[in-house]
Amino acid sequence: MISSVKVPLILIIVITTLSVALFSLTISINQHEILYRESVKSDLDGLSENLSNDLVSVLVSSDNEIELDTILLRLDRYENVKFAHIFTVDGERLSSYFGKSGRPNQTENKPSLANFLDIYPIGMTIERSQLIAFKVIGDTRLAQGYLVIVNDLNKPLEKSKRQMLEKISPLLILIVTVALLGLYLFLNRLLSPLSELSQFANEVKRTHDYSLKPNINGKYEVAELSDDIGHMMDAINAEVERNKEYTMRLLSQQKAMEKLANFDSLTGLPNRQFFVELLRVEIARAKRVDSDVALLFFDLDGFKDVNDAFGHEVGDKLLIKIAERVKSYLRDGDVISRLGGDEFLIMLHNNPNEYVMTDIAQRIVNGLSETIKIEEWQINVGASIGIAKASQSNFNLSEFISNADLAMYRSKLEGKNRYTIFVESMMEDNKRKLLIAKNIDEALAHDKFTLFYQPKVDEKAIVKGFEVLLRWHDKELGFISPAEFIPIAENCGKINSITSWVLRQMCIEFTELQSTQIEHVRLAVNLSAIDIKNETLFTEISQLLEDYDINPKWIEFEVTESAYLENLDIANGFFAKLHELGATIALDDFGTGYSSLAYLTQINLDTLKIDKQFVDNLGVSERSSLITTTVIDMASKLNLQVCAEGVETREQADYLIDHGCHLLQGYLFGRPVSLEDVKKAALLN
Ligand code: C2E
Ligand code: CA
Ligand code: CA
Repeated sequence: MISSVKVPLILIIVITTLSVALFSLTISINQHEILYRESVKSDLDGLSENLSNDLVSVLVSSDNEIELDTILLRLDRYENVKFAHIFTVDGERLSSYFGKSGRPNQTENKPSLANFLDIYPIGMTIERSQLIAFKVIGDTRLAQGYLVIVNDLNKPLEKSKRQMLEKISPLLILIVTVALLGLYLFLNRLLSPLSELSQFANEVKRTHDYSLKPNINGKYEVAELSDDIGHMMDAINAEVERNKEYTMRLLSQQKAMEKLANFDSLTGLPNRQFFVELLRVEIARAKRVDSDVALLFFDLDGFKDVNDAFGHEVGDKLLIKIAERVKSYLRDGDVISRLGGDEFLIMLHNNPNEYVMTDIAQRIVNGLSETIKIEEWQINVGASIGIAKASQSNFNLSEFISNADLAMYRSKLEGKNRYTIFVESMMEDNKRKLLIAKNIDEALAHDKFTLFYQPKVDEKAIVKGFEVLLRWHDKELGFISPAEFIPIAENCGKINSITSWVLRQMCIEFTELQSTQIEHVRLAVNLSAIDIKNETLFTEISQLLEDYDINPKWIEFEVTESAYLENLDIANGFFAKLHELGATIALDDFGTGYSSLAYLTQINLDTLKIDKQFVDNLGVSERSSLITTTVIDMASKLNLQVCAEGVETREQADYLIDHGCHLLQGYLFGRPVSLEDVKKAALLN
């Protein structure tokens, strides 16, 4: 584009320069011509004046023709003199001279003075192509004669012009060339910033680098243009940077959104939605190629307690660590996802056999039962795992997940920290559980529960108290053991209502029950782990005892060893208050959960209840007998009462009594019976 500007510019410059040169040349020639004429005129004037002066004396003395000719011959030195004549005053031609430049024509051949006097004035006359000097010889008043010299002007002028041209042409050409060259260079210099700008524009186009700056040294408008382009580049660059930033923000937002949509923000694992989609695809593929997919549903044991005890921050860190740990037990291609809370799903691809499934599950169970260090805390959790295969649910997605969940639930029920493989019968169990959970509400609302009382006796078989045990006979499901419905109630959030019902009912029946006994006896009521965490329970209990005018010392609260220890701080606080009220505390199922007994000194306790499994093994297993005697021994040292439960034989009773057991409870002394039956039995005694 710039080169196309150059061409017309150069043309204009050349034409202008040449015109100027030509114009100057013409002016110079004209000037030269004028000067030349003037100079020739003055020369001829001088010459003719000299000649006429010299002629004066010749004409005065004699009109010697030869002398006159001689004088005229001086004109020979002037090559442009065409001819010259000397006339007398009377008009007689005395002498003539003809120069080389012109042969005389007819008139000139016979010139007469009158001819000259008619045409020319005395003096110098310039006529077209010739110069005429018409002089008076001698003083004008005393004229001796006339001298006429005609000088050619054309030829010498042409010659002089030619000579002048010859002289100045090379100079002119030089000047014009130099001027053109200079102008060309100047133009180039003027336009080079423009071509640099063009190169710059191409560079920007090629590199897309808008931070480039035109570094162009121009002048005037070019400098301004370069500056303007620089500013424009700044503006473009700023805009580009802003756009880039905006795009980056959008991209990272998009990524974050994708991640948010598909991944769990805490662990970075695929979330439920994403995982379920993956599973759907994998199930469909497995069904198509006659293969199978296995699903591991696992839930942490005791995670809620970690959260309660150490705070959510530690809980979160624990989940992250666990996710990492579990990932390391999986094969390439297995996918783990966090469902939420402490629940995880693992898809085992490639139709794993039972060995592979259980191997992975066992590794997770083992791995998670190891202590995990978070900050300064040593944390113990466990994993309950359920395993199911897609084929068991006929490749139905939701049924597949629900089967794994059921198996996991079974692991929980069977003592946690284990895995269970789903079997069909669990489905039936599940239906029953759902029905039980549903029917609890109705049972509460319509007083379908009853309290049974099982005696606790001393070594002389005298009743010292009763354990209050809940009974439920459902219209639809028949008799349901509390061992079955209590855990369901715990899981579906209905245990608090049940406990409230039991406590109130016990208070209602308290007086009547006491009246069946000779002396006041202690009633032991069971609390579940969830009750301990119920912040309003203590107020409820004290209010009930007050309302029913019951001395708290006649009430004992039984809590399992595991429930107590899993909520140690809360339990300590709760039971300390009950103690203060005057009630007593018994540790139920003692010996089943914890190997360390050191905690016994740290908790509020009145009675240890030795679990039935030890009593069952008395006399059978030496180890059991040893544990039982050790426990009794230790308890008496700690000033605790010992109650053995599940005593069914005389031998068991005797052994326990012999070793210092304070209280005995079991079918040998009495099964749990209704208040009516307690009354009947009292009447019989
Ligand atoms: P638990 O507290 O260990 O209660 C003792 C269980 O052992 C009772 O079963 C009782 O009937 C049974 N038992 C007593 N002596 C013998 C014996 O000599 N032989 C045999 N085979 N069994 C004996 P039950 O009444 O079925 O209660 C089961 C569990 O249900 C209880 O275990 C307790 O944990 C829970 N439970 C019962 N009533 C309540 C309640 O009102 N509230 C709460 N939270 N839990 C309750
Ligand atoms: Ca109990
Ligand atoms: Ca028990």
